[in-house]
Amino acid sequence: MAAPLSSRSEDRTGAVLTIDLAALAENWRLLKRRAGPACDTGAVVKADAYGLGIEPIARTLKAAGCATFYVAHLDEGLALRTIFGPGGIGSPRIIVMHGPNPGTERDFAAHGLIPVLSSPVQIKAWRGFAQTYDVLMESLIQVDTGMNRLGLTAAEFAGLMADPDGFAGLTPLALMSHLACADTPAHPLNGQQRERFASALATFRLKFADAKGSLANSSGLFLGAGFFYDFARPGAALYGVNPTPAAANPMIPVVRLQAKILQVRRVDAASPVGYGATFQAPDGAKLATVSMGYADGLLRSWGASGHAYVDDLRVTVAGRVSMDLTTFDVSNVPDSALGLGALIDIIGSRQTVDDLAQQSGTIGYEILTGLGHRYHRRYLPAPAHK
Ligand SMILES: *Cc1c(COP(=O)(O)O)cnc(C)c1O
Repeated sequence: MAAPLSSRSEDRTGAVLTIDLAALAENWRLLKRRAGPACDTGAVVKADAYGLGIEPIARTLKAAGCATFYVAHLDEGLALRTIFGPGGIGSPRIIVMHGPNPGTERDFAAHGLIPVLSSPVQIKAWRGFAQTYDVLMESLIQVDTGMNRLGLTAAEFAGLMADPDGFAGLTPLALMSHLACADTPAHPLNGQQRERFASALATFRLKFADAKGSLANSSGLFLGAGFFYDFARPGAALYGVNPTPAAANPMIPVVRLQAKILQVRRVDAASPVGYGATFQAPDGAKLATVSMGYADGLLRSWGASGHAYVDDLRVTVAGRVSMDLTTFDVSNVPDSALGLGALIDIIGSRQTVDDLAQQSGTIGYEILTGLGHRYHRRYLPAPAHK
C-alpha cells in the first residue's frame, strides 16, 4: 500500500482553480427569471460542465431548482444518471443532444435518457426500437433552421410529416433547433431561424398537439421573449461567460484561475526568454516563471499579448508559453509579492475568462473546456437553498 501523503493537494499542484458554486446557482436563477415561469430553464453540462466538473455543477444546479439537463454524448448522460440516481418522478430530465449511435437505443431506454433525434436515420432507428420493444419513450426532434450542422432539413421534415409512419410510435416532448448567431443580436439569421422554427413547430403541432419548442441557448435568452419557447438550453452563461459580447456581462464570474510562482530572477543584461528566444527582457528586468502552461489550457497564442495580475498589478507574458511553464515580466511588482508559491491571477477579479480568451484569439468556451486536470480544484459551496 502506498504511503499516506503528508502534503496537501494545493501544495502539490502548480495552479489553483476555484469554482464558485454560489455564483453558478445565482447565474441559473438569473437566467430563469429572464426566461419566465412558462419556460423550463435547463442547464447544458456537456464536456464535463464546460470543464468545471459535472458532478458538483449538476448537484448545485439541481439543488437550485434546475429540472432539465443537457449533455452531448450518451456516456455523459450515463454519468449524469449515476450522479442523480434512477429516473422517475422528481428526478431531473437528462437530454442527450447527439441522440443514439446505432445499437445504443437500449441504453437510453434502460437509463431513462431522452435522445434528441436529428436525422431521418436516427428517427427510423428509434422508431424501430420503440416498436420492437413496445416502449413509449420521450424524444426531441431537431430541425435545422439555418445553421446546417445538425437537424432535419426542411424537405426531410416535410417528408416525415407527410408520411403517416414518419413519426409512428414516437412521443416527442419537443421540437428543437439551434441558433447560429445568437451572440450577435443584429444578425439577420436570428430572425430567419426564429421564423422557420415557428413555422415548423406550428406544423409539428398538427400531429403532436402537446409538443413543446426549444430554441434558445445562453445568448438566445438575450434576444427577446420571442426566442424563449418552452425549454431553454443555456450553458456558457451559467459558467460566467458573457452571453452578450457586445455589452457588459450580465452574469456573475464563476471561475478563478491562479498560477504559482516557481522561480523569480533578475536579468543583468538584455536577455532572451523562453523557447525560440522570441522575447528580449530589458536590462534589469525581473522575471517570474509560473508552473502552468499549454498542457493546462493556456494557449500558445496567448504568449504574444497576454497578461495577468499580481494583486492589482498587471504583468505581461514574456516569451512563449511552454507545456508546463509560463514566464512573466514582473519588473513592476515588489519582491514581497513574489515569494515561492505566490499566486498570479490568470482569471480573476481583474481579468475575466472572456478577457483571457480575447488575448488568446479565441472565445471563453474554448478556454473553459480546454482547462486541464492538473489543478488543485476548490469548490466554494452554494448556500443551502430554501
Ligand atoms: C452547447 C449547446 C447549447 C449551449 O450553448 P451555450 O451557448 O453554451 O449556452 C445549447 N444547445 C445546443 C444544441 C448546444 O450544442
